[in-house]
Amino acid sequence: MNSSPTINFIINNPKLNPILKTIAQKVLANERISEEEGLLLFEQGELGYLGALANHIREKKHGNHTYFNRNFHVEPTNICLYTCTFCSYSRLIKKREEGWEYTLNEIMDIIKQYDEKPVTEVHIVGGVLPQYDVPFYTELFKTIRQHRPELHIKALTPVEYHYIFKKAKISYEEGMQQMLEAGLDSMPGGGAEIFHPEIRDQIAGGKCTGEQWLRIHEIWHKLGKRSNATMLYGHIEEFKHRIHHLEALRQLQDKTGGFQTFIPLKFRNQNNEMSHVQESTVIEDLRNYAISRIYLDNFDHIKAYWPMIGRTTAQMSLAFGVDDIDGTIDDTTKIYSMAGAEEQNPALSTEELVKMIRLVGRKPIERDTLYNIVKDYTDIVFESDKVFKGYVSLPVVKP
Ligand code: SF4
Repeated sequence: MNSSPTINFIINNPKLNPILKTIAQKVLANERISEEEGLLLFEQGELGYLGALANHIREKKHGNHTYFNRNFHVEPTNICLYTCTFCSYSRLIKKREEGWEYTLNEIMDIIKQYDEKPVTEVHIVGGVLPQYDVPFYTELFKTIRQHRPELHIKALTPVEYHYIFKKAKISYEEGMQQMLEAGLDSMPGGGAEIFHPEIRDQIAGGKCTGEQWLRIHEIWHKLGKRSNATMLYGHIEEFKHRIHHLEALRQLQDKTGGFQTFIPLKFRNQNNEMSHVQESTVIEDLRNYAISRIYLDNFDHIKAYWPMIGRTTAQMSLAFGVDDIDGTIDDTTKIYSMAGAEEQNPALSTEELVKMIRLVGRKPIERDTLYNIVKDYTDIVFESDKVFKGYVSLPVVKP
């Protein structure tokens, strides 16, 4: 598991660009890289070089541990009054009858379907509509809390919070305090897109700004709570916008330490206003994971959202800085499948997910939302493993 020789080999390559050499030395010495160096990684870092650096950091932080959790998603509505050009939800506002708008009781009916299942988290996000306001969400969180006290409520992004607090004429501080008191446990990382206004105004104009997104997370962290962060990449942004985004997150993390995980989200081009924009390649996806891991030295985890990129790329990402591949979600989430994600029916049993991780030589660890270990599946034998299939599995050889 010692990846230092690979980095030393890279450093000793006489043909390596001297700045890339300096970056590799910094990674080996556990030092932070600058914005200029981050930009150079995007512009010139080759896949093998980036993978070696990112994997070194990943294994230093987590060894072979690869985390997942058992959660389910609830989307109160798939209709939205904002007009983000990359999103398939906004298109439905003109033909509302084609979408769904769940009442509180309907949402609770969905949640109750999981009563007997060993899930630890409910993840709630969806479109923005006026009836989903502060009283609605505080009531919802309280009802979930009452119904199943141990279920972790991870819900809503600054996009929703900014909208509902403004409508209620309350400050962010007051609003987040009310959410905390109602039972909110943590915030997911969505709505970040690309912070830089040059891009944000074009793809997500009208909703909260990058500064507002960061401010709401900061307030939440100051209440002693945790959240995640994302970046929607691979559309019309340039590498400098990605670095601007990562730098803003790194700075806030220095201040609060409240982020747990960074999740790069690949732009998908189906059923939205950006169908003409080419999607990023698998190579670019892996480069992006690796650079995120190298740049965000103060983030514990980098997550690949497997329904979005597909199982094979998710497996590869584990060698490019990723240590978490999200959960055993079922098809209650439509956000990504509507946008053309790899997995149109993203369901994966715990057994399938565990095997997917083991196949690439990593250790599957079930975690709760806050990364407490729920179960180590490294040596768990499933019933299906005991059945003779007419062949003997060969051991996985790690390069
Ligand atoms: S990305 Fe979010 S805010 Fe934008 S249209 Fe889609 S659901 Fe609405």
